Amino acid sequence: MWQGCRLVLALVLAGLPSAAIAQTTAISAPPAAPAAQSTELPPTRADILRGEYGRYRANNDLLFYHLDVRVDPARKSISGSNEVRFRMLSDDTRIQLDLHPSLNVDRILSEGAPLKYARELSAVYIDFPARLRAGETYTIDVHYSGMPLEQGRFGSMAFRTDSAGRPWITTACEEEGASTWWPNKDQWRDEPDGMQISVAVPDGLMDVSNGKFVGSTKLGDGYTRWDWLVQYPINSYGVALNIGAYAHFSDRLGDLPLDFYVLPENLARAKPQFAQAKPMLEIFERYFGEYPFAKDGYKLIEVPYLGMEHQSAVAYGNKFANGYLGRDFTGVGISLQFDFIIIHESAHEWFGNAVSAADASDMWIHEGFATYLEGLYVEQRFGREASINYINGEKPRVRNQAPVVTQRGIHREPTQDQYFKGALFLHTLRSVVNDDAKWEKLLRDFYQRFKYRSILTEDVVQFFNAQLGQDLTPIFNQYLRRPAIPVLELKFQDEGTLAYRWKADERDFAMPVRAGAPGALQILEPTTDWKTMRSPAAKDVFVVATDLYYIDVRRLE
Ligand SMILES: [Zn+2]
Repeated sequence: MWQGCRLVLALVLAGLPSAAIAQTTAISAPPAAPAAQSTELPPTRADILRGEYGRYRANNDLLFYHLDVRVDPARKSISGSNEVRFRMLSDDTRIQLDLHPSLNVDRILSEGAPLKYARELSAVYIDFPARLRAGETYTIDVHYSGMPLEQGRFGSMAFRTDSAGRPWITTACEEEGASTWWPNKDQWRDEPDGMQISVAVPDGLMDVSNGKFVGSTKLGDGYTRWDWLVQYPINSYGVALNIGAYAHFSDRLGDLPLDFYVLPENLARAKPQFAQAKPMLEIFERYFGEYPFAKDGYKLIEVPYLGMEHQSAVAYGNKFANGYLGRDFTGVGISLQFDFIIIHESAHEWFGNAVSAADASDMWIHEGFATYLEGLYVEQRFGREASINYINGEKPRVRNQAPVVTQRGIHREPTQDQYFKGALFLHTLRSVVNDDAKWEKLLRDFYQRFKYRSILTEDVVQFFNAQLGQDLTPIFNQYLRRPAIPVLELKFQDEGTLAYRWKADERDFAMPVRAGAPGALQILEPTTDWKTMRSPAAKDVFVVATDLYYIDVRRLE
């Protein structure tokens, strides 16, 4: 997702068309409370039901979903079923799925026989008449119906019309949860290994969902069913419907099919704009390896909101303009060279969709990495200096008021520092590694090690430490688990002596940093204890490479 517009929207609203204002009003204001408060509120019962990986989730492992629904644009309703196949990990008689209370559970069947269930807020507890056995595989059908409540930043499930008045119905539910429009195990730790998505819509409309297009079938009752097959693990918020009178065009990147769906009136603008996708994919493939969802293909789909990283079906709403809704987002003259939403949301195919966080608390693994990948894209296209400028252009947006990693088990999304501070942290780590080839290999190996898996920050730390053969844990902790960034304190003493140390919350914080005379920087190895050295430069010319490290510098008298 892209959250940054919370900050800039107030500035750009004046220039937006009225339709865009209507869609984004809910997020146009900056966060009302300081970030520190927003991640520290005590969890509600709903937060716990949503975020806790409790017994009735942990006792099973998802294998496959078949979501089979019918969408009625006139009634703004959805109905159908999700067939859930899972393997039990321990003996039990109950499992937990999730469905928003605004939607009805019509019945839940196991081999045709109805199962009992109980609902509490969004949780649906399903009870089995006989004990389910560890290691055995079971399938249930959850039938549901109703009118999804439009909510959240992108509507969750939103029934709109295009400029010609035809239905245009999309889903985007990262914050609110997929259970706002379909029944599923709505958490981040467990993903099914694959999924079938069947969506019946009125004739003349089409549905574009995730995965490979299997076919469409006229049902003879005024509806056509569109079938899609996802052949990889998928997180629940990555599942999407995009229903409209879309025009389609396609391309290929080697064997990878690239498919593009836009409203017919935007075809001429979309073709040149979406040509950016191919070189972008090539750049990310060069860094990390093959596009993660090759069998499913890559798609860009026009939507009425800004954008979302729906797996293999990236939602696009950046108005076919470069930058961020046509603006130079980082303010250093680079953002307008490319379409922000194409690059950022597609970067999530590698980080967010292939490598996923196991809890929303660790969502920087999605957003910090995707934001850092923007910098890698800039580096490949415009050079290292442009990339350094681009990443440093994000500094004014960091607040440093709350830790990037939040409390586990309550679905508590981090503040937007997860984007910019996350990217600046990775940029800093690269300077710590101080060897571009080693750094790129580390990133690639990290991706390859964890693709198609859901991980936590501890997995990142452990992998980086092992690969580099050094303990970076205090650095990770300072940047991700403490609000403040480290401060390099400098004291210029008599006779050319320099005293220096890190002021940091982590007692063991130690990080090399480049500093000294301009043009002849050397690497200092400060710790949180004072060290002294003969100053490599006079006080008034001494510089610190703050463009390579996200730190503060304080000169003490
Ligand atoms: Zn994002």
